[in-house]
Amino acid sequence: MSKLKLGGVSKAYGATVALRRGDLEVAAGEVHVLIGSNGSGKSTLCKIAAGTVRPDSGEILLDDKPVVVSGPRGAKALGIGIFYQELSLAAHRTVEENICLPDLPLKAGLFIDRSELTARAARYIALFDGVTGEGFAAETPVGELRPDQRQLVEIMKALATEAPILIFDEPTSALDSAQVERFFDILRNLKAIGRAMVFISHRMDEIFAIGDRVTVIREGETVGTSRISETDQSAIIHLMVGSREDLAPPAVAPAASTTAAPSLLSVRGLSGQGFAEVSFDIARGEILGFGGLHGQGQSAVLRALFGARQVSSGEIRLNGESRKVSSPREAIRQGFAYVSGDRGRDGVIQGRPILENVTPIHYLRKGLLLARPAALATKATPALEALRTKYAGLSAPINSLSGGNQQKVVIARWLINRPDILLLDDPTKGIDLAAKSDLFTLVRKLADEGVAIVLYSSEDAELLNNSDRILVFNGGSVTRELKGAERTRYNLYHAAYEAA
Ligand code: ADP
Ligand code: MG
Repeated sequence: MSKLKLGGVSKAYGATVALRRGDLEVAAGEVHVLIGSNGSGKSTLCKIAAGTVRPDSGEILLDDKPVVVSGPRGAKALGIGIFYQELSLAAHRTVEENICLPDLPLKAGLFIDRSELTARAARYIALFDGVTGEGFAAETPVGELRPDQRQLVEIMKALATEAPILIFDEPTSALDSAQVERFFDILRNLKAIGRAMVFISHRMDEIFAIGDRVTVIREGETVGTSRISETDQSAIIHLMVGSREDLAPPAVAPAASTTAAPSLLSVRGLSGQGFAEVSFDIARGEILGFGGLHGQGQSAVLRALFGARQVSSGEIRLNGESRKVSSPREAIRQGFAYVSGDRGRDGVIQGRPILENVTPIHYLRKGLLLARPAALATKATPALEALRTKYAGLSAPINSLSGGNQQKVVIARWLINRPDILLLDDPTKGIDLAAKSDLFTLVRKLADEGVAIVLYSSEDAELLNNSDRILVFNGGSVTRELKGAERTRYNLYHAAYEAA
């Protein structure tokens, strides 16, 4: 008998089909692994089970009886708890408040019962005793914690639901090995008391260490379920990517014959926190992709090249001359541009007009402290129009735009003063399909005009479709280079997962 069963669930967002057909069955006392490449629909499937996404079709059965999971409250009432990949924590609240947040203990039905809250949270914090790391305490605001510590709080929050069904969507991506070990001990105990669990991870060693069964999802469709004891890594990778034959390299042949062109940027043995011994060359007109599992050093290298992260050793040569890039300001002067998909942190100046958001780079490169807005507007307008940005006027606040249009403003900045090297750090995170396609058309046009582009994308399809060459990252280093006909999904996954 299955505890939880999803049958033929689907979900589309406009033209994007996030989930075509999801089938998943989880038994009590089981850790059921869900695996699939970036963008294959894993999180969507989990969110449907947890009531945060309403499916377009399909059914959900609990103990073999059809149910409707109406919102997170509905899920809680049905006994389904979830660890969200993007975390669901309140930054200004403390660790203990976050753990109890979905259901704060109240006194007289009105006031938070502090001592009860502290006592309840302490039980879950204690589970990770010894591995939470420095600066972690029940009273610490979550905003002050490191990424791994926040992930631990999200785990504690999911555990505190005491739900019979627990879904963990990539809970270990930021954890160190001691933390993962502890988490697995907890999962084993939960298994023993009959909990049904879904576990998503990209790491093969983890899957084989903790899983009972594995379901593979490919392009929005679950394609097979096996017992872990009856399968192996290569069978799983095969299911994930399909057969070699359906996976011809993308038809868009790279324009640049890159071997002949002299390199514009040459990086040798670059090392720093989160990356080691990274070497590559890139020529004008080339789009070099950074691939691999999320968080394998790709962003760290891009930020280091932009002077936003320290380099401990190695060499960066620009046009054959050795360069030291010690700050973003200097990087910009040397012709670097950096666009991150994390608009909140790196991109837009919240609450300020679009014009100000388009032009800061212009000031920097020209060394100007002030410029006349009217003069800037004549530069900004064509740049925004080239990107088909939808905006009411240059004085409208940036926040009035959709995510995709905000991202276009961030890119438009760099069109006013064309860079030599454009660093794209997962630039399309959270933007819609039409905006993505506009962005990549523009990126290719910039390359054709002689800009050297480094692209990191967390969506494999996007990376394969837009890169002339791909460096696969693993554990902070480049483990494989895919050129020409080698740029297939099959090769990309093999390189990304096999070493993992
Ligand atoms: P995974 O967790 O396997 O990486 P997701 O379920 O997050 O995949 O996403 C599947 C696809 O659906 C991706 O192409 C993603 O860009 C898209 N998608 C997910 N959520 C949304 C959303 N809220 N709006 C638009 N597209 C989305
Ligand atoms: Mg996901």
